[in-house]
Amino acid sequence: MKLMGFYSGSQKKSGGKSKKRRTRNLRVLLVAVLAVFLLAVIVWAVWSAVSWWKSRVTDPVELEYIGDIPIYEQYIPLDSPARPGNKRLVEWVVIHETDNFRAGAGAEAHADFLSGLGEGDDPRSWHYTVDDHQIYHHLPDDEAAYHASDKLNPHGGNLNGIGIEMCVNEDGNYEETLENTVQLTAKLMLEYNLRKNDIQTHQHFSPSGKICPARLLDEGRWDEFIDRVEEARKEMREAEREAARRAQEREDSILPGFLYDLLHKEEEK
Ligand SMILES: [Zn+2]
Repeated sequence: MKLMGFYSGSQKKSGGKSKKRRTRNLRVLLVAVLAVFLLAVIVWAVWSAVSWWKSRVTDPVELEYIGDIPIYEQYIPLDSPARPGNKRLVEWVVIHETDNFRAGAGAEAHADFLSGLGEGDDPRSWHYTVDDHQIYHHLPDDEAAYHASDKLNPHGGNLNGIGIEMCVNEDGNYEETLENTVQLTAKLMLEYNLRKNDIQTHQHFSPSGKICPARLLDEGRWDEFIDRVEEARKEMREAEREAARRAQEREDSILPGFLYDLLHKEEEK
């Protein structure tokens, strides 16, 4: 009995020890798992922050066409007072209307107006003017401009926005102009990795709440505009992915390029 008691006691003791050891091992394991998890979260956070930052620091795009809408480049002279020249990140697209109803006051006329501004003129500038059949590009997209009435405030419309003016000339077709602006805005969203909330009115930045784009706001069509932009952006992204997929397929094909093109010509139509 004594012996049994001795043995059972010792068994109990050693059982307790291994239980303690198991608990300790479990703790060490838990701490290790937690440490690995925390490390993974930190790595993920740093990686996300870096890729977000990189995605925003892009070279300015120079577009020649969006669909069948031509884009002409006529940059404001470098020494113009309307060209502050500050390089910045693109954080916004700022939508305006010219409020210039005069016949002939299309995109080209506004490009000439901006190019002609000199000393003593009110320094005004923006990046694109859109009318019912063409677009003029007045400034590189990575430069600040004077259009949003908010000086050069950090993260503001002037310092960080791309200004787009829609023409409202009486001999133009406003609906066509609006559609061309939808296409341009969607393209810029894709190029500069912008979200829906980054598309704003001039009114959003104006301290006095200037009603601009006037007709679009007066007719209560801002939400419609944003929805159309979002739709166009999705379509463009889908088309880009499809084009990339086709290019990859062509590259992966065992056929020589010219033969692949010949065979897939019908399919592309
Ligand atoms: Zn405006």
